[in-house]
Amino acid sequence: MIKEFQLRVLPEEAANEQALTQVVVREGGIRADEVRAIRILKRSVDARQRTILINLKLRVFINEEPTELEYIPTEYKDVSNGKPVIVVGFGPGGIFASLRLIELGYRPVIIERGKNVHDRRRDIAQISREHIVNGESNYSFGEGGAGAYSDGKLYTRSKKRGSVDKILNVFCQFGATSSILADAHPHIGTDKLPLIIENMRNQIVACGGEVHFETRMDALIRKGDEVIGVETNTGNTFMGPVILATGHSARDVYYYLQRTQVPIEAKGIAVGVRLEHPQELIDKIQYHRADGRGEYLPAAEYSFVTQSAGRGVYSFCMCPGGVVVPAATGPKQVVVNGMSASRRGSKWSNSGMVVEIHPEDFPEYASHKELALMKFQEHLEELNWLNGGMKQIAPAQRMVDFVNKKNSGDTPPTSYAPGLLASPLHFWMPEFITSRLREGFRNFGKMSHGFLTNEAVMIGVESRTSSPVRIIRDRESMQHVTIKGLFPCGEGAGYAGGIVSAAIDGERCAEGVDACFSSLSRI
Ligand code: FAD
Repeated sequence: MIKEFQLRVLPEEAANEQALTQVVVREGGIRADEVRAIRILKRSVDARQRTILINLKLRVFINEEPTELEYIPTEYKDVSNGKPVIVVGFGPGGIFASLRLIELGYRPVIIERGKNVHDRRRDIAQISREHIVNGESNYSFGEGGAGAYSDGKLYTRSKKRGSVDKILNVFCQFGATSSILADAHPHIGTDKLPLIIENMRNQIVACGGEVHFETRMDALIRKGDEVIGVETNTGNTFMGPVILATGHSARDVYYYLQRTQVPIEAKGIAVGVRLEHPQELIDKIQYHRADGRGEYLPAAEYSFVTQSAGRGVYSFCMCPGGVVVPAATGPKQVVVNGMSASRRGSKWSNSGMVVEIHPEDFPEYASHKELALMKFQEHLEELNWLNGGMKQIAPAQRMVDFVNKKNSGDTPPTSYAPGLLASPLHFWMPEFITSRLREGFRNFGKMSHGFLTNEAVMIGVESRTSSPVRIIRDRESMQHVTIKGLFPCGEGAGYAGGIVSAAIDGERCAEGVDACFSSLSRI
């Protein structure tokens, strides 16, 4: 017999299967020796009251063993003889586009400028150790894209529950733990992601797809108003319709599109800093307990949002128990982001603290037209590089000092491996951003006592929150508005923000290609 339970229990009662069995015995009138397995279907932490509770939905197998898998598997067929579709970029958008193409019977031919996820690791380590940024292999470029050496939060605001579930199930099929199907805020972690991504690539290759690493698309091959393939830096060309999933950091792609008059448009982004607190402090604040999270609770999260002078100020991509990483993709840039391992065990918590900006906020960049905010991003990143001492050392300021416009004499201990340099961010960062961050921090300090503290440090600059450009496509066909055979995809196209939404977008682009081929074959 299978029985489902909806329960609210203490953290220690949800700590492991043994503890859960005791709860089920108590609540369900079942004997412990009758319980064959317990599956957690939903789990979330309720920290609104002094007594913290875990909300659980459980499926209990009584006197019977579970027979089905914990996830819904997808079937991938042999597509060796399928029509080729070129997928440029192997981040979440490109990966999920490729997997979906295989489901639909097409043969993905993947072009990825960076290295495979394993070899990429060395270049990433070199950024922190030697302050050298390889323009083709870094935190954004390479197998897995920006999603590989990332935090691996799979939480999305997408309302398309069915699409989200499909993506999470595919992650499980390739090695993610099934807890991501149950948790309210699912998370994989950067220690687990590379193997999952490698498994996905192996599946694609086993089905007859091709993956070309260290191969950069430099141009689209066009026949009138149609894209029919790509040219690459290796001298090879690849023919077929193109899913362009190059992410928001491939500025050369945006320059190329503008130069060749492919319609694109400027879009708003959010910029600011990474804010790092001791995790212990965040645990104490969020769990209202002097002993912090204790033995059984996860590293606490937070989320803030407010308005300042007509613009949103908010926390972004919070990484509990994580580290701040150097995420530049080229010379003369200091860019920071956050990631964490599956256990979220570091001493720090970090989060982007950003101000929403629109193209019209910076009229001095208007001459760059569609690339206006990208140019502003470039300027900000160079400004931070200059103020950090022209290495990967990041300029930083204590939080209260920033609010009071006071120089910080030093910076607190940090997870940011290349190191911090105390710097008056309040003085040299654009006023449009600093004035709003100041007001935002004051508000957040009022909302959450202890959050506004000099134990926290602001690290410059958080500038790659989303794409500053949109490659305009048709809502239904997913095809570019004026150019046939071109399917702008994922975060770089301006239609996604995060791993899961880029993955959903990848699947939709593959379906767009299929619909296009199907309608052609009907003519
Ligand atoms: P990308 O992942 O950027 O992939 C684009 C790919 O295209 C890259 O591999 C790049 O090398 C390749 N490429 C670019 N130009 C070319 C070219 N000309 N030719 C061939 N290949 C090219 N999101 C979350 O949801 N949760 C998180 O916890 C999270 N943490 C993050 C932590 C860090 C450190 C970073 C950097 C990002 C994080 N993100 C997170 C954001 C998330 O990774 C991105 O939203 C997501 O990866 C976007 O997917 P994408 O496929 O659209 O683009």
